[in-house]
Amino acid sequence: MFFQKDLETMRRSEIEALQLERLRHMVDYCYNHVPFYHEKLEQCGITSGDRIKTLSDVQYLPYTTKDDIRDHYPFQMLAVPMREITRIHASSGTTGKPTVGCYTKGDLNRWSDQVARVAVGGGATADDIIQISFGYGLFTGALGLHYGLEKLGATVIPASSGNTVKQLMMFRDFGVTGLVATPSYALYLSEAMKEQGYPRSDYKLRIGLLGSESCTPEMRAQIEKNMEIFVSDNYGMTELGGPGVAGECELRCGLHFAEDHFLPEIIDKDTGLPKAPGEAGELVVTTLTREGMPVLRYRTKDITRLNYEPCACGRTHVRMEKVMGRTDDMLIIKGVNVFPTQIESVLVGMDYVGPHYQLVVRRVNFMDNLEVRVELLDGSLLEHYRELEELQRSIHDRLKSVLGLETKVTLVEPKSLERFQGKAKRILDLRNEKES
Ligand code: ZN
Repeated sequence: MFFQKDLETMRRSEIEALQLERLRHMVDYCYNHVPFYHEKLEQCGITSGDRIKTLSDVQYLPYTTKDDIRDHYPFQMLAVPMREITRIHASSGTTGKPTVGCYTKGDLNRWSDQVARVAVGGGATADDIIQISFGYGLFTGALGLHYGLEKLGATVIPASSGNTVKQLMMFRDFGVTGLVATPSYALYLSEAMKEQGYPRSDYKLRIGLLGSESCTPEMRAQIEKNMEIFVSDNYGMTELGGPGVAGECELRCGLHFAEDHFLPEIIDKDTGLPKAPGEAGELVVTTLTREGMPVLRYRTKDITRLNYEPCACGRTHVRMEKVMGRTDDMLIIKGVNVFPTQIESVLVGMDYVGPHYQLVVRRVNFMDNLEVRVELLDGSLLEHYRELEELQRSIHDRLKSVLGLETKVTLVEPKSLERFQGKAKRILDLRNEKES
C-alpha cells in the first residue's frame, strides 16, 4: 500500500534528477531570501545554484547546526515574510531557547503528505481510528501526525498524553485501531492495559505508529507482545519540519526517506567528510521543498547509515537504518562510548526485570563510575537475597560483555523509577556536580 505511489516508486535516476533540480533551486532560494545563508554561501564561493553540477556537489555547501538555528531565534532563518507563515512550532530545548519551526501553507500541505506516507507504510488506512497520545502543543509530533492522518482519511482522536485510565477507556469505547505515542509512553500504556485486566477482545488495536524518541527492537517487541499490535517507527525533527522525514514500510528493514523532499548524506562526524555509501556516520539533511524555513545540510547528530538497495515493498526511496545513537547522547565513560540503547537491549531480554532503567554517572576519586539502576518486575524478589544477588551479577556480566565496562548494578522496587510521557530522560550525569 502506498499514499503517493508515483512518487514513492520513482526510478533512482528520476529521484536523483528531481533532487538535483530542487537542490539548485534551494541554493538560489536560500542565497536570495535568508541573510544567514547568503553570507555562508558567499564564504563558500557558491552564489548561484548553477554551480551545483551533480548531487555530490552538495558537499561544498555550508552546514547548518542546531546552534545556528538557536542563534537566529526566533525568526531570522525565515525565507518568507511573516504574513506567509501559517503555523509556528517549537521543540522544548533542555537548555535555553526552544528551536522554532515556521511553516507556510504549502509546507503544511507537503508535511501532511510526508506523514501520510509514513502512516501508510506502517499499515494505517482510511478505515483506521487512531488515537494520538503525544502531548499536543508546540511539539511537532502531535499536530504533524494529526494532519497527516486526516489527510490519509483516517479518523483521528486528539487524546494528548496523560490520564492513562481515560486513554484505555477510549481505546475500548471508541474502537481505536491505531496508537500514536512515544515508545516509552506506549510501553507504559501497554503495562496498564495488562493490569486493568479487560479481555483483549475489548480492544480493536492493531497498529502503533511510535516515534519522537529511540526504541530498541527489544522494547518494540515488548510493546507488541503486551498490546498485540504491529509497531512501526518513523523519523523526523523540528529542524526538518517534524515527523515524516522517513518511516518504516511493512517490511521494517530500514526507514524510507522522503527523498523528493529531503536530500540525506552521511558524513564523518569529526572530519565532516562524506562517508562511502553504506558506511555509518552522522546524518546530514538538506530540505528540498521547504519554503518557510529551508535548511541546508542540517547536522542531525544522529548516527546511522543509508541503504540504496531497492526494497521488496516497491518503494525506491533510500532506507535509513534505525538510528544507532546520537553524537551528543553518547556517554563517554572511562574513554568508552556508551549508548543508552545498548543498556536497554541487555535489560529487555532478561527475566525478572522490566525495561525501565536509569543511568547515574559520577566521578569518584577522579574516575568515572556508572551505576545502572534497574527496576524489578516483582518486588517480592527483594526478600530473597541469593536470587537478588544472582540477578545482579548476571546483569553486571552481560553489561560488561556488551559495553566492555565495569558498572554498578542496583535493583530497585517495581514502579520506583520515573515514567515518561514525553521523551525519556534516563541519564543522570553528576560528574560536574558536587554530591553531598
Ligand atoms: Zn520498503
